[in-house]
Amino acid sequence: MIRTAPYTRDLLPAALSNDRDASAFIHRFQFVEDLAREWFRRYGFQEIRTPIFERTELFTRGVGSETDIVTKEMYTWRDRAGEDGEGESLTLRPESTAPVARAYIQHQMWQRAETVRLYYIGPQFRRERGQRGRFRQFFQIGAEVLGGSDHPALDAEGIELVMGLLTEAGIPDLELRLNTVGNAAGRARFVAAIREALAPRAHELSEDSRRRLETNPLRILDSKAEQDQPLIAALPPIYDVLDEGCRAHFDAVRHYLDAAGIPYVVDARLVRGLDYYTQTVFEVVSHAPSIGAQNALAGGGRYDGLVETLGGPPTKGFGFALGLDRVVLAMPEHRAPEPQPELFVIYLGASALEPALHAVRQARRAGVAALFEPTPRSLKSALRLANKYGARFALLLGEAELASGQWVLRDLARAEQTAVPAETWLQHLLARRG
Ligand code: AMP
Repeated sequence: MIRTAPYTRDLLPAALSNDRDASAFIHRFQFVEDLAREWFRRYGFQEIRTPIFERTELFTRGVGSETDIVTKEMYTWRDRAGEDGEGESLTLRPESTAPVARAYIQHQMWQRAETVRLYYIGPQFRRERGQRGRFRQFFQIGAEVLGGSDHPALDAEGIELVMGLLTEAGIPDLELRLNTVGNAAGRARFVAAIREALAPRAHELSEDSRRRLETNPLRILDSKAEQDQPLIAALPPIYDVLDEGCRAHFDAVRHYLDAAGIPYVVDARLVRGLDYYTQTVFEVVSHAPSIGAQNALAGGGRYDGLVETLGGPPTKGFGFALGLDRVVLAMPEHRAPEPQPELFVIYLGASALEPALHAVRQARRAGVAALFEPTPRSLKSALRLANKYGARFALLLGEAELASGQWVLRDLARAEQTAVPAETWLQHLLARRG
């Protein structure tokens, strides 16, 4: 048997899943996606769909050549050479902020006066070590706010959207962690402070962190290595080395979050794993027991230099991405009930087949989720099947019903049935289904 590739999976209708793993039920994904589209509509975001693969250079430049994503996790291949020229290096997208920024430049959205608000829903690919809540193909719901303004109210608005969405999805025990990484000059001062503090103790650092002390000291704060933790804890908070402007930005974001009634904790160690962030960074975790160790549900921040890095004009940006797989994992089962068919049409005897087909069609045209199985079966077996499908009502059509013009509508949940006139059976059903 050929199975799915490591740490990838099928998302299935609940009834067809033999391991009954609710975290892979497709209706739960659809529920969160629908909710997200509704929240994006309210906040004035429009959808963008970018390709699933891009030129590799987009990510090395956009995400940062020293990040884990670029150094270890990308699915990259060289395309076959053909009439389009030399085979070039292509990559399955590991994230979608760089692709959206590329689209912003390519379609000259920067020429517009208005703030551009875009959202996406789709798969991302990272060759990570898989575990509960961590996959090599996973789904993100994300948004980007691009344009001329870096007003801190935009940062707070984006965070408010994420928190509102997660709260309405019923995710328990949410915690919003907030920090600032300042601007380039502030970060340079912070990097100098990290080097000064850690260089004399480099031998105590993990191998990865020792390398990063040379290449990208900020990444040391992301380190999960046990031995690095006391050294990281002793570093000064970045806020202390930032200039007035950066501090004022952060203070204002906090003010707007306070005004919106959104609780948060300031986490001075939060820098996030991508190079493009400036000023505000945030992460949302859930302490729900179902979610396990991979408890980061969403993350994002401001990235004012990214569009320029990718060859566009100076542009302000703020965005976030929410891990759909993890939101589904943390979402209580009752929050997203499985959609059930409303009607199962049963026919008994060959002469009832055509009228039954007509009845199913009428029901579907009226918006009813109606099921029909043309293979002839006994009443008992048909009712068993209707129950198996979880239908709420059954319409019974046999020779006697056709002759009398009184059809039988059965409420399967209550095991009650009534005779209804053939001409008005659908009205009866619509009235009863509520
Ligand atoms: P990032 O793009 O790394 O900032 O991640 C944003 C969110 O995507 C995280 O908070 C996770 O919820 C989710 N995420 C990232 N990587 C994975 C993965 N390998 N599997 C599942 N979800 C992920």
